[in-house]
Amino acid sequence: MSRQRTVMAWNEDYCIHCHGCTSSCVRGALTVNHTYGGLDYDIRKCIRCGNCLRACPTGALHTEPAPES
Ligand code: SF4
Ligand code: SF4
Repeated sequence: MSRQRTVMAWNEDYCIHCHGCTSSCVRGALTVNHTYGGLDYDIRKCIRCGNCLRACPTGALHTEPAPES
């Protein structure tokens, strides 16, 4: 049985910009983009620990299947 590889995804419509997710990310994979006020996600740094998901009070973050590489 194979496990589906996942990545974090962000829904701007639900985001209140509390930065709980970026503060909880131990790998620096999720950061605030100060140019447009959104989030940047670096798939190479993400260890899929789920801290950001648990820290998000609005459900703006979720997982998605990783894009084919
Ligand atoms: S799953 Fe963990 S490592 Fe990946 S973005 Fe969220 S907090 Fe950071
Ligand atoms: S924790 Fe959720 S609501 Fe807060 S900045 Fe991150 S995605 Fe937006």
